[in-house]
Order: sequence, then C-alpha cells, then structure tokens
Amino acid sequence: DGHINTTPKTFVVNSPNVVYTDEEIRSKYTYRTTLCTVEGDNYVAVPKETVYDFKVDRKVPKTGLMLVGWGGNNGTTVTAGILANKHKYSWATKEGTQEANYYGSVIMGSTIKLGIDAKGKDVNVPFHNVLPMVHPNDLVIGGWDISGMPLDKAMDRAKVLQPTMKELVREEMSKMVPLPSIYYPDFIAANQENRADNVLPGSKASMEHVEQIRKDIREFKAANGLDKIIVLWTANTERYADLIDGVNDTADNLLKSIEAGHEEVSPSTIFAVACILESTPFINGSPQNTFVPGAIELAARHGAFIGGDDFKSGQTKMKSALTDFLINAGIKLTSIASYNHLGNNDGYNLSSQKQFRSKEISKSNVVDDMVAANSVLYKEGEHPDHTVVIKYMPAVGDDKRALDEYYAEIFCGGHQTISLFNVCEDSLLASPLIIDLAVITEIMTRIQWKAAEAGAAAEKDFKHFHSVLSVLSYMLKAPLTPPGTPVVNALAKQRAALTNIFRACVGLEPESDMTLEHKLF
Ligand code: NAD
Repeated sequence: DGHINTTPKTFVVNSPNVVYTDEEIRSKYTYRTTLCTVEGDNYVAVPKETVYDFKVDRKVPKTGLMLVGWGGNNGTTVTAGILANKHKYSWATKEGTQEANYYGSVIMGSTIKLGIDAKGKDVNVPFHNVLPMVHPNDLVIGGWDISGMPLDKAMDRAKVLQPTMKELVREEMSKMVPLPSIYYPDFIAANQENRADNVLPGSKASMEHVEQIRKDIREFKAANGLDKIIVLWTANTERYADLIDGVNDTADNLLKSIEAGHEEVSPSTIFAVACILESTPFINGSPQNTFVPGAIELAARHGAFIGGDDFKSGQTKMKSALTDFLINAGIKLTSIASYNHLGNNDGYNLSSQKQFRSKEISKSNVVDDMVAANSVLYKEGEHPDHTVVIKYMPAVGDDKRALDEYYAEIFCGGHQTISLFNVCEDSLLASPLIIDLAVITEIMTRIQWKAAEAGAAAEKDFKHFHSVLSVLSYMLKAPLTPPGTPVVNALAKQRAALTNIFRACVGLEPESDMTLEHKLF
C-alpha cells in the first residue's frame, strides 16, 4: 500500500524447541509451577517442571458459525458487523464517517507483547497473529431462531445499529433466514411466545429434535463447503433445569431422558447433545445450566468441545477487573451492590422470575476466587455482601445501564466507596465476544499436546485439551471448567492464561512483566 517502513505484524520463532513444517508448528515447552506442601506450620515450596510437546495444525479451515438465537439482538448485530468488516464498509454517522472494525474483540482488537528489541523496547503483535487463527471475516454465518423473521427485519427489530450501516448490509441480510428451532415454552419467559413462529413440531425433548439439529449442521456444512462448524447459543436465557438423579446426572441417563421426552431437558441441552454427537464445538452464551452433569460427561466421552456460560460483557467484566484490583491492592471489599436496567428483548425475557434467577446465579459467584485467595483480608468463609438486581425498562432499549456500588474498608477503619454508572450498548459489547469465542474455540480444535518423553514418542500419544474449554473464561461470566477443577474469574488471570497458553504453543515463555533489562544495569 505504498508504505515501506511498516512495523511487522507477524513473527516466526527461532528456537531449537520450535519446528515449523507446512502442516504444523511443533514446540517443546517447559511448564514451570511451584509445588507447595505443608511441613509443620510452614509451607515448603518446590519449583516443578513438566515438559510438554505441543503441535498446532497450521491449516486454517473454512469455518461456519451457527448461532442459536440468530434473529436476536446479538445474532443480528454480530452478523451485520462481520459483513461490514468483510466488505470494508464505512457509513455516515453524526460524528463523521465510521469504518467497520473489531473493537471489543481480544483476538482482533488487542496485541500481546512478543518480546523486546535490541534496545529493550517492547515489541507487540496483534493477538490474532500469535497462532494461525481463522479471520472472522471468513466465518460463514447461519443458525436457528424460533422467530422466522429474515435477518434484515430482525436487525430492525433489534434497534441496535445505525440506519446508514444497516442499509449497506440489508440486501445480504434479507437472504439470511433462521432455521426452525426447538421451543419448549416452559423454559423461556411466557412473553416470548409471540415471536415463536418458526418452531419444529413437538414441545418436549425428543431424539427427533437432536437428529434434526445434527442434520441442520451437516447440511449447512455441505451447502457452504465448510471444513468445520462452531455452534453458539445466543438465544434467550432459559430457566434452570432441575438436576435430578437418573434424569440428567449421567450421559446415559440424559440420552434416555431425551428419548423419554422428560420435561427437565431444555432446548439448549438438546442443542448441546446434538453438537456433541456431531463432534461440533458448542458454546453457551447464556446463563442457564445447559451443561447438566450428563451433558458434560457426554462431551468428555465423545471428546467434543464445550464452553460456557454467559457472555461476560459489561457489568461483570468491570467487576472481575475491579474486584481483582481492589483485593490485590490489599483493600477489603465489603459489599457490591449491582443494579441493571435494560429495555431490549433480553431484558423482557429476564423480567420473568425463573429466567432472572439464572442470570442472578451466573452474576453472583464472580468474586469468589479473588476473595478466597486473600486470607489476609478475609477469614475462611467470609465474603463481601453481594446483590444483583435487573429491571426491564423498555425506553432504554439495548443501551443497558449498570449501576454498581463498591464499598470497601481501607486503612484503620476508613472506607472507600466507588460508584459506577456504566452505559453499555449491550449487543455491541457481546458481538465481539461471540467472535472471540468462535475463533478461540476453533484454534483449540487444532492444538494437541503430549507429555514429552525421552526419545521419539509415538505420534498417537498426542491428544486435545480437555473437552471443557476453560481457556474461554475471559469471555464468560460463569466459566465452565473441567469437573473438579477451580474456576478463575479474575480478568487479568484469565487473559494471562489465554496469552500464555498460546505462547507455549509456539515455544515462548509466559509474558513476564519483570523487565529486568530496565532495572539491572
Ligand atoms: P434477544 O432476546 O434479542 O435474542 C435471543 C433470540 O433467541 C431471539 O431472537 C429469540 O427468538 C431466540 N430464541 C429463543 N429461544 C430460542 C430457541 N430455543 N432456539 C432458537 N432461538 C431461540 O437477546 P440478546 O440480547 O441477543 O441476548 C441473547 C442471550 O445472550 C441472552 O440469553 C442474554 O442473557 C445473553 N447475554 C447477552 C449479553 C449482552 O451483553 N448482550 C451478555 C451476557 C449474556
């Protein structure tokens, strides 16, 4: 483009531990942790090293993203946004010309520190270039909705995007029509009934529903010549399914319950099961307990990737950053009061008690790990007061208001009160998270590892990460983790995990902020 002195945006690693072939990046990586044991009234901390081999498949597949709830605010907004980026559209706004961008996406909008140059200056590269990831512009989008409205009209109904932007994508969106979906009225608010005009026959769980969704996935894949599909739930928040022994506690029981049409199997669980059986990754962007124990077991059994729950977009993202900061600053957070009001269809659905309850649960546990980590400030079992309120206020539409008060105890009995007023354009925050979840999930399907062995260990020993993708935690309010493993909510830790796992895959040490080169001379 005429520029000569551009800063490079891509890199190769030059290290004896890293080998690039046409097909793969292979790396040998030494994972360093510290093992602590109690001896008397002391911990003994012992450095521990584990050597892993990683391999990353370099061929970027042609990938489809199928959204459940495609005709909703998030579904239409992310679709329009990707089209606008793909075609490099720009449009007039009252502030001037706006170009399509991917702001708000960690993968597309942020950089990581690769290292330093000869003068000790930081070298940063776009996150997207750390591994050979899919570009969101290349995602082929499709999906399901219980509302059959074509996407052009659905985007008008959503009232999110600028009219000038909508006109650019309107024609293309008008050809996009959601596939009929599964509707079990008891799971979402009764007020959603009016839009449910595009539903598969049957209002309780059935294997026919599972098979129909599997068929939809296969047909979409074939019709678009895709190598791979990611399915993501951005449909309405459902109520929790009751966890019942013999019904959804094990994989086999869950399958039996689906066959028997049990009323505690939700549509989102049907989608999850269909995807698992189809070896298609399934991500849940809403708070309900889609992943009942039986679904998690089924995923592990099939080695199918799952991730969830509930996009971490506005209030909770702030909370998981701010709480981390306060508690790590040694300030004793004693209460968090969180109020929301919003006027979009999500808010309408959440005005129903059972659906609100799902959201309340996913919003409630987000500071637990940070509190538990600080035994100086908090006694065992002690916890800040925490309340979450959500109200439906139609007038504010998609521009959700989140009001938060953080009350903390400071030095010698003093207090600090932080009051936040956060106006988040909800679907514009959630859309880039959908993109990140899809892109990260896709690359995770191409990363394999094995414990390094002396000599040439057999190729067959390589395996994938655990089927529950906790590496997606940064984007999720109530991160799902492999059974029995801890949940990390702290935003900085979540980003560090993502960054450093990707770095390990190309044989690079974790990003260290020691900068000794600027301190020791
Ligand atoms: P929305 O109500 O605009 O869209 C949801 C869509 O899902 C609707 O079009 C609805 O017809 C459809 N739907 C409902 N049940 C369905 C089913 N069984 N199958 C297929 N489609 C179905 O909501 P939204 O603002 O797009 O949010 C979507 C979800 O994401 C909500 O559950 C919300 O709580 C969650 N979420 C959103 C954010 C955010 O910032 N926007 C953050 C966290 C979580």
